[in-house]
Amino acid sequence: MNPGSTSKLPPLGPTLRVGVLGGGQLGRMMVQEAMNWDVRVEVMDPSPEASCRHLTHRFVQGDLQDEEAVVAFGQGLDVLTVEIEHVSTEGLQRLADQGIQVVPLPQHLALIQDKGLQKQAFAAWGVPSAPFVLVDGLDQVDAIGFPVVQKLRKGGYDGKGVQILQSPQEALDRGFNAPCVLEKAVDIDKELSVIVARNAHGETAVYPVVEAVFNPEVNLVDHLMAPASISPALEEAARAMALKVVTSMQFVGLLAVELFLDREGALWVNEVAPRTHNSGHHTIEGNVCSQFEQHLRAVIGLPLGDTAPLHPAAAMLNLIGEPDATGTPCYDGLAEALELPHVHAHLYGKSTVKPHRKMGHITVTGPDVHSVQQSVLKLRETVKVRGSNPA
Ligand code: ADP
Repeated sequence: MNPGSTSKLPPLGPTLRVGVLGGGQLGRMMVQEAMNWDVRVEVMDPSPEASCRHLTHRFVQGDLQDEEAVVAFGQGLDVLTVEIEHVSTEGLQRLADQGIQVVPLPQHLALIQDKGLQKQAFAAWGVPSAPFVLVDGLDQVDAIGFPVVQKLRKGGYDGKGVQILQSPQEALDRGFNAPCVLEKAVDIDKELSVIVARNAHGETAVYPVVEAVFNPEVNLVDHLMAPASISPALEEAARAMALKVVTSMQFVGLLAVELFLDREGALWVNEVAPRTHNSGHHTIEGNVCSQFEQHLRAVIGLPLGDTAPLHPAAAMLNLIGEPDATGTPCYDGLAEALELPHVHAHLYGKSTVKPHRKMGHITVTGPDVHSVQQSVLKLRETVKVRGSNPA
């Protein structure tokens, strides 16, 4: 069967059964879009408290890495997709072999799950990425000298599984003793992201480049700005690089391409994520077609939507738990925040808050980058996610 072919699918509406592996905020926002098309979405997640649990037609608690659990979940579905890449690709392949439309393809997920295979693929496709070597354990950690960026090949997320080691002593003290990518540290000026969709017919749609601003304390994105403050030539080059990754891979689905702009003005691909991405949340209010609708379109094989921005500028602020927050979440200051113009809140429905846990986000749109930045500063001061339990 043609991978990602739409020929056998029921039409849009309640007879179309779409499954999602992962029921966190990304799945939840996709379900919200799917509801507009009255599509039946069914979700599997390991947590009985998953963000999606009350929003789906069928919620299954199960281990996403368990081949048998994935195969059991997939029975009877028309289409199966993911909101997270750490899933059993063996299970997905068995479902694809049964004729269920699995998007992204299991082999693409397997490639992306392994940062080492990703780096080798970038090299094979001629996509610039930081120089690297692959090693099996800590005894080879000095293979390209120091400082070095050490990345676990498998299982890392949100910066966990990535660390910069300045010296052999630091490597000895806290290096990972596992198969790793060792990468030259890039002298980063900006961290950028480009989201690209490609459907089974080979059509592509690219979103404008966004700029991630990090909170160094917790190594999580603090907020992101669209458009990125880069020249039109760099904007074009970043989009072209993201498209090159998607077309070289013959990827089907939505791919977030993370890039570094170094201080000499060169672009490097860092890594890719085969799904909706934190750096695309602003597209819900900020662009004609949101990344969540676009993901569904690509997965189901529909024509892709318009990626054009609706406003000159947009920012997205992650709402994360305060450093001492535990218990039931309290979103202090949210009512005041909503007094600001063009502010939209999205809470993910998580039943408990933990320090630094992503609990929601706020999007601000505006007439220019400066005014949106001013709103972000105010929102950062106004909104705090605390917990009901005393510290
Ligand atoms: P994850 O997959 O966990 O999100 P990333 O590969 O995106 O991990 O790395 C997390 C962060 O580490 C990046 O956003 C960047 O700030 C930093 N980083 C990663 N690779 C490099 C590198 N080669 N040089 C400098 N900083 C890097």
